[in-house]
Amino acid sequence: MNTLLPTSTAGSLPKPSWLAEPEKLWSPWKQEGEALHEAKRDALLLSLQEQSLAGIDIVSDGEQTRQHFVTTFIEHLDGVDFEKRETVRIRNRYDASVPTVVGAVSRRKPVFVEDARFLRQQTTKTIKWALPGPMTMVDTLYDSHYRNREKLAWEFARALNQEARELEAAGVDIIQFDEPAFNVFFDEVNDWGIACLEKAAEGLKCETAVHICYGYGIKANTDWKQTLGSAWRQYEATFPALQASSIDIISLECHRSRVPMELMELVRGKKVMVGAIDVASNLIETPEEVASTLRAALQFVDAGKLYPSTNCGMAPLARSVARGKLSALCAGAEIIRQELSAR
Ligand SMILES: [Zn+2]
Repeated sequence: MNTLLPTSTAGSLPKPSWLAEPEKLWSPWKQEGEALHEAKRDALLLSLQEQSLAGIDIVSDGEQTRQHFVTTFIEHLDGVDFEKRETVRIRNRYDASVPTVVGAVSRRKPVFVEDARFLRQQTTKTIKWALPGPMTMVDTLYDSHYRNREKLAWEFARALNQEARELEAAGVDIIQFDEPAFNVFFDEVNDWGIACLEKAAEGLKCETAVHICYGYGIKANTDWKQTLGSAWRQYEATFPALQASSIDIISLECHRSRVPMELMELVRGKKVMVGAIDVASNLIETPEEVASTLRAALQFVDAGKLYPSTNCGMAPLARSVARGKLSALCAGAEIIRQELSAR
């Protein structure tokens, strides 16, 4: 990136109400068949337009073509029965009805590659594409076949790697793996989570990112955060190994959260997508609030490696709120760019 402090989002943005019921996770589609395909594409274009108008430098599809950041990818794999649903506890936090792994998992066809190609045709900006990470995938389904989280994660890593290579070929500049599970299962992260993540990113020439957050602004997550005490030190358990990993960019939650800023020091040398927008509140940040978070982060991240971003996806927010937050993010980043150039 040539731009200093290039802005981006963690990934998802709200969907228009004609595509899916707003302000809801796993919201059902409102169209079917060809009409749904067209509606998804229209929503992707709108989402790109909103990012561009706000001044976002690294754009995405706003995850408009997927119902959920994890399950939509899983849905496209062989070996997963989507009709056979079980209720599991996700990230030790909340129950959800999820699909079941009933046989060997494999990716016989591309999942998002056509969508990525479509986005590439619409813009010359840097584009980032989000995929779920292997560990978070394992944590978002019921496994009646492998009955072993690590084994299943390696299978997912292979499928993700096939998808990632094709996304790269379609013109994606940054491939991001979402691993909120990295903030929960620390032993597993260090035993096999990061190794599986690297497998998913193996052989890619484009940049790679891992997004680790405290989740969407839904009640189960905000309740969980209440139990974490005054300093959230979860990143401390995984950052040293991530610093030594092959992943280029670490995307983390920061703004209005209790993550001690100095933990960023643990990934010194990596590019850091600093969450400077709170996705768990409808309150729109002022540019100055964004700037003050970025200013604080600059103590631990070199300016050339700081990517202002959002704490997490904004899918569950109202569109007007998300738009306001995108603008605030860009205006806040601009304040810091001015400060840096005045030095
Ligand atoms: Zn997130």
